[in-house]
Amino acid sequence: MSQHKRHMRASMGLFFAAVLAATLSAGRAAAQTGEAAAKAFHWPNGKRVAVSMTFDDARTSQVDLGLDLFAKYGVKATFFVESRNVEDRLAGWKRAVAEGHEIANHSTTHPCTGNYAFSRHNALEDYSLEMMAKDIDGASAEIERLLGVKPVTFAYPCGLKFVGRGLDVRSYVPLVAERFLVGRGYMDEAANDPAFCDLPNALGTPFDDTTFARMKELVETAAKDGRWVIFVGHEIGSAAFQTTDTGALEQLIQYAQDPAKGVWLDTVASIGKYVKQQQSEGEGK
Ligand SMILES: [Zn+2]
Repeated sequence: MSQHKRHMRASMGLFFAAVLAATLSAGRAAAQTGEAAAKAFHWPNGKRVAVSMTFDDARTSQVDLGLDLFAKYGVKATFFVESRNVEDRLAGWKRAVAEGHEIANHSTTHPCTGNYAFSRHNALEDYSLEMMAKDIDGASAEIERLLGVKPVTFAYPCGLKFVGRGLDVRSYVPLVAERFLVGRGYMDEAANDPAFCDLPNALGTPFDDTTFARMKELVETAAKDGRWVIFVGHEIGSAAFQTTDTGALEQLIQYAQDPAKGVWLDTVASIGKYVKQQQSEGEGK
């Protein structure tokens, strides 16, 4: 082979290598653009953050104090009721339904780890998936019988998502995924990323015993990344253990109702439905 030919061959080789590199690079760029497009999640109407106020266990203060407070501002909350407690304030829960609040499932008997003394005789460690399914379905049937609504979201009692012990432990998230649009946890340390989150395994942020300043900080942090904060409270009243303070709650609602803050304040079902729709479109379904 002449010097010239050898040079030509080397040049051609370099040329094809360059074309190949450019093609690969373009492919990578396209893939990255696609990824970015899939991640570009937008809340409706130019909102920058979503917030849900949720309250668990069907505690009487939610009806006695909460309903008037929410009515004053025309806002909707999600109540994850323990169905066996509903009859303690049946007229109040019917009012909650009539006023557009979401009544959701929090199990029939509230099984938690037996390490909590109150749950020792109804411990998740002693449950099977079949028992858990029966407990959850019983609550939905009871809510439908008492209040005429079919729950579409669920909150894990104590935020725990397992049944059994050791090698026999099973997650019951799939049971929840089969039955509900959203399953909400508790005591989690982040807000939900709507582009990524697994709705039946959504995070819940503590609401009880929290000042308005802290609530505002949590919402502002979430707004930076366009997230969804699902606050989890129990009693509604003066600041105390497992109680969401009425003063802080009112301030948060006023904050959320200021259009400049870009907050979409709504129930777990409403926001969950929007997130699911956006995620499905992102996957081209
Ligand atoms: Zn609970």
